[in-house]
Amino acid sequence: MPRPNPYRPYTPDPAQLALAPDISGNEINGLGDAARRPPSIVYWATNPDDIPHGRMQKWFYTVDPGSPEFGVERAKRAAIYAEPLPPVAPTPAERSPESWTAALEQFVDAGLCEKVGVAEMNSAWLFEGGAASETRVIIAGVQHDYDRIATAPEPEAGAEVMVQYTRATRVAKEIAAWLHREGWAARPVTGPMATTLTMIPAAIEAGFGELGKHGSIINPEFGASFRLSAVLTDAPFAPTPKQSHGIDAFCEACRICEDACPPYAILPDKQTVRGDEKWYVDFDKCLPFFNEHQGCGICIAVCPWSRPGIGLNLAAKLARKAGREG
Ligand code: SF4
Ligand code: SF4
Repeated sequence: MPRPNPYRPYTPDPAQLALAPDISGNEINGLGDAARRPPSIVYWATNPDDIPHGRMQKWFYTVDPGSPEFGVERAKRAAIYAEPLPPVAPTPAERSPESWTAALEQFVDAGLCEKVGVAEMNSAWLFEGGAASETRVIIAGVQHDYDRIATAPEPEAGAEVMVQYTRATRVAKEIAAWLHREGWAARPVTGPMATTLTMIPAAIEAGFGELGKHGSIINPEFGASFRLSAVLTDAPFAPTPKQSHGIDAFCEACRICEDACPPYAILPDKQTVRGDEKWYVDFDKCLPFFNEHQGCGICIAVCPWSRPGIGLNLAAKLARKAGREG
């Protein structure tokens, strides 16, 4: 028996629903489309007027969380993003691909992020109309403070997400600045308004983990409780290998996030989305609750992998089980 859900039944604010466009966000995302096509920006557009759900995006900012932390973090992030990068040094540094990738650990050691990885660029990750000539995508992961994210959907969880987006922006800028000093052009890409490429598939390819039923990546070390940023470059980094920990199969048998999601947005079965079978969150059901609760985050918080000390043990247990089953 699932635990009683304190946020059900959920009735969206009619003022917000009045701003919904005629087109479904699921249609924009390509739910049910068997043909492959580039992803479209469905939300968090740099200019909300460019997308059908732009009026709902603007409404998000009208919900007063009662905490100055949101404004402070947004201003910090904007200031970091506006900082100019140093010029690209005239002579590109030469290193082996493995040594380039190993050098990224300096950003983890400095506490700017908790994980780094590299994927070869795949044009399928670029948003419709987007362009990138770079050959490498560096991914940085920053972990939430679990105690704060566990308060979701209270504003404190949303504030923690803002804090981590600020860190994600900082580390992407620092990696790009380092590459410029090393003589290689680099472009930071940071969320939530990441309009160049969709970061989740790039991060999965770079070994950050597997897609969970709740639509976020699950990593044994951090669970689903982290944010991403990226840096695009031609510096010849060695890709970091994709990882499999049995999380996908674990999600088949678990329904904790499904039961915890107030608007029933987390679908129990994989869906076809732009030609791929994958876990999918119903955008139209999630968005009103998400907007009314500073980004919600319940599904990330309740996922057992997110609980400190659980994920690595769970991954080891699943690996032993897979070993026994040959
Ligand atoms: S709560 Fe369960 S089903 Fe949902 S993403 Fe986490 S492990 Fe998968
Ligand atoms: S973020 Fe969306 S999918 Fe996750 S629990 Fe909240 S409403 Fe549900």
